[in-house]
Amino acid sequence: MNEKTASELRALLVARREAVLERERVGDETMAIVADARSFATADDEHDPEGGTLAEEWSRAAGLEAEAKRELDDIDRAITKLDAGEYGTCESCGKRIAVGRLRIRPMATRCIDCAA
Ligand SMILES: [Zn+2]
Repeated sequence: MNEKTASELRALLVARREAVLERERVGDETMAIVADARSFATADDEHDPEGGTLAEEWSRAAGLEAEAKRELDDIDRAITKLDAGEYGTCESCGKRIAVGRLRIRPMATRCIDCAA
């Protein structure tokens, strides 16, 4: 992988990282708000006109946050590999991962054949 492609993919990873951090932040806020709402015994789940109970809202936010954390791990691992010059190699077969695939999924660790 040449220098230009590497820095292009690094920029994609950094942009994605920021987007995921933002999602994680929103998830944190939602969980804090729901935790607050839950601490009020008067919160009436059954008759919430917005639909969806606090418990549902909580598990949705927790799910989003867990997903964001996983994605963040994947992105950080990809950036570490880039730094080490090991980026873009399939972890299963050792072949190079197509740049087109990395552009769509910059944290991919396996080539399209192995991922299938
Ligand atoms: Zn492979």
